[in-house]
Amino acid sequence: MFYQDNSVENNVGETEKKESNITAPTVNELSQMFQDMEVSEDENKELSPGKALEEKLQNKSQHLFDVYDKETTISAFSFAEDYRIFLDKSKTEREVVLNGIDLLKNVGFVDIADKETLTAGDRVYKSIRGKGLVAAVVGEASIKDGFNILGAHLDSPRLDIKPNPLYEEGEMTFLKTHYYGGIKKYQWTTIPLALHGTVVRKDGTTLNFTVGEDENDPVFALTDLLIHLGKDQMQKTAAKVVEGEEMNILVGSRPVPHKDVSNRFKLAILQILKERYDISERDLLSAEISAVPAGKTRDLGFDRSFLAGYGHDDRVCAYPAVRAIATMQPGEKTGLMLLTDKEEVGSQGNTGAQSQSYENFMMEIYVKKEGAYDVLGFHQALENSSMLSTDVTVGFDPNFPSTVDPKNVCYMGHGVALTKYTGHGGKGGANDASAEFFSKVAHLLDEHKVPWQTGELGKVDQGGGGTIALYYANRGMQVIDSGVPVLNMHAPGEVIHKLDLYSTYQAYKAFIENM
Ligand code: MN
Ligand code: MN
Repeated sequence: MFYQDNSVENNVGETEKKESNITAPTVNELSQMFQDMEVSEDENKELSPGKALEEKLQNKSQHLFDVYDKETTISAFSFAEDYRIFLDKSKTEREVVLNGIDLLKNVGFVDIADKETLTAGDRVYKSIRGKGLVAAVVGEASIKDGFNILGAHLDSPRLDIKPNPLYEEGEMTFLKTHYYGGIKKYQWTTIPLALHGTVVRKDGTTLNFTVGEDENDPVFALTDLLIHLGKDQMQKTAAKVVEGEEMNILVGSRPVPHKDVSNRFKLAILQILKERYDISERDLLSAEISAVPAGKTRDLGFDRSFLAGYGHDDRVCAYPAVRAIATMQPGEKTGLMLLTDKEEVGSQGNTGAQSQSYENFMMEIYVKKEGAYDVLGFHQALENSSMLSTDVTVGFDPNFPSTVDPKNVCYMGHGVALTKYTGHGGKGGANDASAEFFSKVAHLLDEHKVPWQTGELGKVDQGGGGTIALYYANRGMQVIDSGVPVLNMHAPGEVIHKLDLYSTYQAYKAFIENM
């Protein structure tokens, strides 16, 4: 189901919502699927001297199907089903926040504004202007001892609708877009798109709406040139094959009957918007409407090992972070989860990771637990904190091996990635986790039998990327990047391995409860 917020009106799709017709496999079916995993090899077999030396001296990263037992594999596939359901209803940052709050409230989290004071065992959350989400499980120890933090981002690349979007040309009506985040623009043409929007009308009322997700809804699309006439286009570089101003979404082609007006086709769409949603062209000027790939996340592969869908970056890390804090057993340290916005464009603004708002939440916990604000005490809390910056990394793609160092890349199915540094050529813009901290995290995961791997983003001179790690490291805390390897990152359909997702959840849970 989509969200329903009482304070605002939600128009959920063009047609009445039905239960999804994708049914998750039962535990019995999964047990059937993995029955051959019960075949055990003789573990007491004597190793040859060479093999024994190899075992003793070499570090070996293994595929998780060779690591997990049948029971863990079933848990992993069940967890992936939960994630799929969450992902399909969380395609914008606002939707991640609403569905995340639902999940937290279901297990007893309350809005921190409703608590005068905090004591060990309290579970609180706060929405950061509806686009970021923070939550905490209060521990026994003084906040000065620091937080254990999981920090993911919840925005994903998409096509935002321009403020003045609607026009007609060639007796068709279009919406102009401005893409958000780093995308290969050509990947976004000719696929079905859904619109997710928040419109605050001139009269102050708010409408949240989605069109294109139910299979009976209409969808929208960017057109592309037919190959038959693509002679010139095919000579262009990929960055220019489709250009920003050509990314106009087709939304209609039926005019109003009145022949005395120009813009008859545009007027007809405005009429539909007015009748169906009570919104005017004036209301669009300030609206936030995004086009995202329509449809559901699907199992990929004969063996269903992968999940293909939109927005894995970074909800594939945000979701296990929510689940880790939701199930966190209160301990010594206070556990903290930060889901931040605007990562794909630099983490700035009042909902991005650089915003003071995230620190304000930590400060509120400090004051409500310790009784008063103390400048030094609070800054000691930041400095004593440990954080996993939980973001995706590149997974090795054998079709494009030349872009990565195969000896220093993460492999699909080898588990959660711990990444010492991101950045590009010369580690520019990277948080570089210390040897001491990396080793401490690695030991913790080993102790909890969580399989993990490490790798760099790509070849040293090939490009690169960053996460929110540096913004929190700047505050003095220990931070290391960790997350799920992804194929097709930032494409409309990204791919992850189900066992990597589960190992990531295990890692986040071990970290937030025990670091
Ligand atoms: Mn990311
Ligand atoms: Mn990204």
